[in-house]
Amino acid sequence: MTIDQAGDLTGADDAAAVQRLKQMIEASASVVVFTGAGISTESGIPDFRGPNGLWTRNQPIDFRDFSASSETRRESWRRKFRTEDTFAAAKPNQGHLAIAELVRRGKAGTVITQNIDGLHQASGIAEGRIIELHGSTHHAACLDCGQRHELAPIRRAFLADETLPLCEGCGGMVKTATISFGQAMPEREVARAEAASMACDLFLAIGSSLVVYPAAGLPLLAKQNGARLVILNRTATELDLHGDLVIHGEIGPILEAAVS
Ligand code: NAD
Ligand code: ZN
Repeated sequence: MTIDQAGDLTGADDAAAVQRLKQMIEASASVVVFTGAGISTESGIPDFRGPNGLWTRNQPIDFRDFSASSETRRESWRRKFRTEDTFAAAKPNQGHLAIAELVRRGKAGTVITQNIDGLHQASGIAEGRIIELHGSTHHAACLDCGQRHELAPIRRAFLADETLPLCEGCGGMVKTATISFGQAMPEREVARAEAASMACDLFLAIGSSLVVYPAAGLPLLAKQNGARLVILNRTATELDLHGDLVIHGEIGPILEAAVS
């Protein structure tokens, strides 16, 4: 289903939407792709707010609670290691591969993601072109000095007797390198994402409900600076009224067809 700029149903089918998206990509000199959890559900990773969403089943742990309570830190690591196999088994799907193809062609220079799953890297996009606004679940970091910590030794010690990891460098608390609610956004990544959003002429927002700020502000920043905005998501988003093209559909098949 496609909705035009005024928010009216056009009655156009998916094929027409794909055609329009294809034309917009072809006409663009510089695309920024922004992705949320929806792009990875076809890879077997549930999104957060859907019926099978991780948060529908478990209340997210707030950063202050993580910092304040060793029992909450244990619960956070239990959840991490419960879901680790799902993340480890996930492979990029046709949506990730279509985006990688846009990068390979030089159409898209930057991929901004809210995801923590590393699947854009796994699709072959160079690390330097990917901005992870919410960090990565594939390693951990010291909350005091920022030192990177690998997960394998943390996992061994935690699964043995729930030992909580501490930084060898400074003794600080170690946490998965993801951004929790209540935790400051990474300044460098946010600045890079804002700069890329302001410089593009086409912003593709894919698989995000666009409710989490400041990430959800990036599509508007792009629009204010003259870019056209495409929103591709199964369900309505907070920003649909601002879209030059809004497609409510399945990400993988639509993106693959638009990039083919
Ligand atoms: P969200 O769960 O709020 O929204 C995802 C959206 O994707 C939903 O609106 C849903 O309708 C849509 N969707 C799901 N599967 C789809 C498909 N196959 N085709 C089309 N649309 C589909 O996710 P969000 O906006 O990214 O925010 C949640 C936060 O949770 C993010 O900030 C992210 O850090 C984190 N998260 C990450 C992952 C991951 O790394 N894969 C998974 C879950 C949550
Ligand atoms: Zn440290």
